[in-house]
Amino acid sequence: MYIDGISLEAAPAAPSARKFCIACGASIPSDATFCPICGKLQ
Ligand SMILES: [Zn+2]
Repeated sequence: MYIDGISLEAAPAAPSARKFCIACGASIPSDATFCPICGKLQ
């Protein structure tokens, strides 16, 4: 699934700043606005 405006590449070093998507439960960056997996607004 491809989401406009979201790039999974070149993620800045953010060691243990992770959270889980509220929709699909994927591990995503804690500052992510949208889940890169399912695209759900966090
Ligand atoms: Zn998700």
